[in-house]
Amino acid sequence: MLIVMDPQATDEQLKKVREAVEALGFRAEPIPGQQRTAIGVLGNQGYVDDSSIRELPGVRECIHVTKPYKMVSRDFHPDPTLVRIGGHLIGQGLAPVLMAGPCSIESESQMLRAASEVKAAGAHILRGGAFKPRTGPHSFQGLGEEGLKYLRLAGDEVSMPVITEVMRIEQLDLVCRYADVLQIGARNMQNFDLLKEVGKLKKPVLLKRGMSATLEEFLGAAEYIVAEGNDQLILCERGIRTFERATRNTLDLSVVPLLHEMSHLPLIVDPSHATGKRSLVPVMAKAALVAGAQGLMIEVHPEPEKALCDGAQSLTGEGFARLVQEMQGLLRYLGF
Ligand code: PEP
Ligand code: MN
Repeated sequence: MLIVMDPQATDEQLKKVREAVEALGFRAEPIPGQQRTAIGVLGNQGYVDDSSIRELPGVRECIHVTKPYKMVSRDFHPDPTLVRIGGHLIGQGLAPVLMAGPCSIESESQMLRAASEVKAAGAHILRGGAFKPRTGPHSFQGLGEEGLKYLRLAGDEVSMPVITEVMRIEQLDLVCRYADVLQIGARNMQNFDLLKEVGKLKKPVLLKRGMSATLEEFLGAAEYIVAEGNDQLILCERGIRTFERATRNTLDLSVVPLLHEMSHLPLIVDPSHATGKRSLVPVMAKAALVAGAQGLMIEVHPEPEKALCDGAQSLTGEGFARLVQEMQGLLRYLGF
């Protein structure tokens, strides 16, 4: 439930409302806004009887929230959340951030080369997978800790923060030792136990939309992380499964402005997994910025034809540099 206070409500009236909420056994979270102050009621499992609250002085209305998410919603938190990764701030209204690097970490030299190419082109955050969620068990599963070492080394070499996927709770300690940002992949979007654990950490998290997840499910998953105390969360649209097989997935770009209406969290777009096709990545990357994304995640490999994973959708270093160049005019047009 959301309790909206009169704009003139006094601190004393706010205090009384908080006490009334706590007397019901729930948590009261003040949500200061520019026009009004509201109080979010947290911890209830079902409908809250508001009879002891709605008549209190200073209360304008009680809004019952029936959605499975609250803390990530715009209603509960009107101002955009800013996520800090190294020296970069990511959030609605800020210049888009570029995450780039190979799908999977394959060797020290591959990672060092990828890092220097994407850094030179203008990327901000280096990506690379050490634990790969592959569709079949016979495909390359990632180098594990050896890969994490190469990722960290390459990131340090070019002074870039690094992001990598964590698939299981048991991997968290290890991955946290090497990574600046934890990625939860599409296939794990509803691994609620994992979401709760990353919610307890003080590390930024990138949550990818599940391939058949509705926005309600996506935000419900995000809520698991934020409800545990970690608000350093970025959402990522990476394409959804539809009847169309000509592209790997269907890039659902209309969710970018819609998620901004629904949530205060930053949202980035991954045009690589969304299209599966190198030739489509640059134009869809630009389309994502026009739609209002706070950043992009793009797969870049020094030699895509030799990649152990997702070569067909990976840009070369040169292709990525060209894209970043092309984006400059667009970013100016968008006011960044
Ligand atoms: C990835 O980014 O490496 C990845 C596996 O993506 P997704 O979870 O979106 O399929
Ligand atoms: Mn990939």
